[in-house]
Amino acid sequence: MIQSSLTQMGAALRAKKISSVELTQNYLDRISTLNPALNAYITLNPEVSLEQARAADVRLAAGKTDALTGIPIAQKDIFCAKGWRTTCGSKMLHNFVSPYDAHVISQFNSAGAINLGKTNMDEFAMGSSNETSYYGTVKNPWDTARVPGGSSGGTAAAVAARLCAAATGTDTGGSIRQPAALCGISGLKPTYGVVSRYGMIAFASSLDQAGPMARSAEDLALLLNTMAGFDERDSTSLQRDKEDYARDLVKPLNGLRIGLPKEFFAEGLGSDVAQTVETSIGEYKKLGATIVDISLPNTKLSIPVYYVLAPAEASSNLSRFDGVRYGYRAPEYTDLADMYEKSRAQGFGAEVKRRIMIGTYVLSHGYYDAYYLQAQKIRRLIAQDFVEAFKQCDVIMGPTSPSTAFKLGEKGDDPVQMYLSDIYTIAVNLAGLPGMSIPCGFGANNMPVGLQIIGNYFDEARMLNVAHQFQLATDWHTRAPKL
Ligand code: GLN
Repeated sequence: MIQSSLTQMGAALRAKKISSVELTQNYLDRISTLNPALNAYITLNPEVSLEQARAADVRLAAGKTDALTGIPIAQKDIFCAKGWRTTCGSKMLHNFVSPYDAHVISQFNSAGAINLGKTNMDEFAMGSSNETSYYGTVKNPWDTARVPGGSSGGTAAAVAARLCAAATGTDTGGSIRQPAALCGISGLKPTYGVVSRYGMIAFASSLDQAGPMARSAEDLALLLNTMAGFDERDSTSLQRDKEDYARDLVKPLNGLRIGLPKEFFAEGLGSDVAQTVETSIGEYKKLGATIVDISLPNTKLSIPVYYVLAPAEASSNLSRFDGVRYGYRAPEYTDLADMYEKSRAQGFGAEVKRRIMIGTYVLSHGYYDAYYLQAQKIRRLIAQDFVEAFKQCDVIMGPTSPSTAFKLGEKGDDPVQMYLSDIYTIAVNLAGLPGMSIPCGFGANNMPVGLQIIGNYFDEARMLNVAHQFQLATDWHTRAPKL
């Protein structure tokens, strides 16, 4: 059952071939056996999950079902879930039990899905390797000496190792797509504003977007159907008609125009990744697509722009963690200012502090115009590049990440090398576009390679169609690590 698609699982549950309690227990048992080596989960609550499963079974018996009723889904520990410890990978929130549900969580709850547990992540979603988590690094299930990517690395490892049916992630600069690529699974970052950010702990609000991570595009479509939708509690949530993201899955790809940006195939790209991605583009040609050479000339500026804007927003968002209302408070201090200082000094890890300092600096008087304002202007140019590109093609493709999964500790003391992991993903967030990654083969050391598919605004249904047709023609998405 753990290799079945969500559609097949749903059908088995409705046909009473398996109960949600049995399915949930199967996953919990698998987690007990395999999670100690992978560290994909921060918090498990078996009793709570099984209670939800019992309720789902009642609902299944009554025939009041949704596509996801009874299916165990893991949630990135950035989503507040009522009664669940929600840490965001930080010591700062080690004791925070959320009194409310994020919009994404309540959507899954109303669908009758099971919250299987909270997955590990880089602290406050800052990282590309899951090594900044206060709860320890996550291991890549394909090779436990390697990173799973980040920041949604716990989710990616859990999906790849079949420790959940599917899961959620968030993507501020690549955190759904890059770990999906490094763990050989599928992940989708929707258009900014499609999924509500309410109750999702904020990193950089103008970039953060939640999305599904699963084994196939078909599964992603079902999850997105549940996650997307207007929510008045998020001021950037978009009021749009409800969509069925699975509606175009079966369309043939004849005449599809695929844009290949020359900047995505230039210096810095590993030859193993380049070759694998080129082979999959060949597969698309066989499926009837035509290739268009395009250029995204400002791509090279996306990392410097992101590392001004994201830290600026983070420095403001993270000012709420002051040891007063919730979270970590230093045990000893002299006065209020000292309490703030010690609580933040002890509660945040090194990468988070680095971002807060950069952010505070670029927003300070005298530097605001030189850095922050300048970065905002370049952000607009980066978005404009995509507007031009989409005049010539329907989707853009390229590698998700310049290399396959690297060794634990390999980039730990070089933040710039780490930041370069997101060279192909960050521009998509800056432009607010949807992007996804699907497995497309294996590179050096037999580690998975991800193919990135970037769509125009609100083109998720088409991207899922493009990914699904590839997955009908190939079997990369069915490959699982031996555990
Ligand atoms: N790796 C990038 C960073 O460290 C992106 C993280 C993310 O998308 N949350 O900021």
